[in-house]
Amino acid sequence: MLIPKIMHCKSKLLFNIVERSSQLTMQSKKPSVLSRCITLAKELNIISTPILMRTPTYPQWVSLKSCFYNKLFCLKKIETASVEYIQHYSEATEPFRAEWDFILTDGSKSDTSTTFAVTNSDGATISVGALPTYCSAFTAEAAALHEAVMFASQTSKKHLICSDSKSVIEALQNPKNDMLLINMIRNIIYEKKDAIKIMWVPGHAGIKGNEVADERANKARMQPLHFFNHFTPKDLRRYASNYLAGKLTHDWAAYHHYYKLNNPRGTKPIFPSDSPCRGIRTFVRLRIGHAIPTHSHLLNGVLKPPCSYCNIPDLSVQHLLDECPGLSQIRTTVFGSSKPSDHLKLANSDNINAFLKFQILAKLNI
Ligand SMILES: [Zn+2]
Repeated sequence: MLIPKIMHCKSKLLFNIVERSSQLTMQSKKPSVLSRCITLAKELNIISTPILMRTPTYPQWVSLKSCFYNKLFCLKKIETASVEYIQHYSEATEPFRAEWDFILTDGSKSDTSTTFAVTNSDGATISVGALPTYCSAFTAEAAALHEAVMFASQTSKKHLICSDSKSVIEALQNPKNDMLLINMIRNIIYEKKDAIKIMWVPGHAGIKGNEVADERANKARMQPLHFFNHFTPKDLRRYASNYLAGKLTHDWAAYHHYYKLNNPRGTKPIFPSDSPCRGIRTFVRLRIGHAIPTHSHLLNGVLKPPCSYCNIPDLSVQHLLDECPGLSQIRTTVFGSSKPSDHLKLANSDNINAFLKFQILAKLNI
């Protein structure tokens, strides 16, 4: 899926090509992959536009370990009661109370909205915003953290930022993670590494500030908000895949072909690994209704031959399998009283072997 790579270009060369493609007003007969991705992004109403990613400003060999304060990481959520968490939180934050200001962040995701909130320890809102609905809870948490570090970096005070997103904190600590949003947060932390610390706190464990941020992010769903165009590559990949899968299902519903009778839902068949290639080939050709006896005349440029068993002129796969009187005995031997074409619906070993046996007994070159 190229859309995230186009939106956040890492290469100047690619960015220039993307810019040229997006400025083309004439639609060519055979659009390039880039043009099709840009068109799809417009169809999906993705609000971001392609940008050239800057390399991180902080030297990557510098460890930001001292900026993360994860004393509560070791407490397992299943084994720790809320009261214990509150006590541990209180003890862990004690050394910071005198000199550091506390900031709490939280993200919220529902089917219809993705919002986040940043509050201070008194519960006052520092920032609250909405993201496109295709953004995940992870993106909302990261966006909240980004707003928090931005706020913290603009003051001369020291800030302890509490987030309940383990995955965002782990992403920040993982040097291999080079998502734009994560890099933006890291850049700010690096520039203010003596004045910003990020601490993980458990969500929904009764920790006062976290509950307030959570409530604020949830309430934000009902309010007109400032819109942020953050996203992660995974957000766009998932959004575009769902859209394309829906479109494919819709197109398949309107599609009329013999194959649809054998695969009504349009699902991709998974063939058993122990079936012979020849058997799978026969099965696939019969399933789509294109076999040598019924279609080879098109390649050979001759008239369609009649059925070699009963001489009817309109030869089809369905005729050979279900109707041809010349093959009735073989049909009964292989399939008993069941209708052979019904066995094309399921790609299992029994069905594949049955059609192979039918082909061999009927001396058919399929
Ligand atoms: Zn026939």
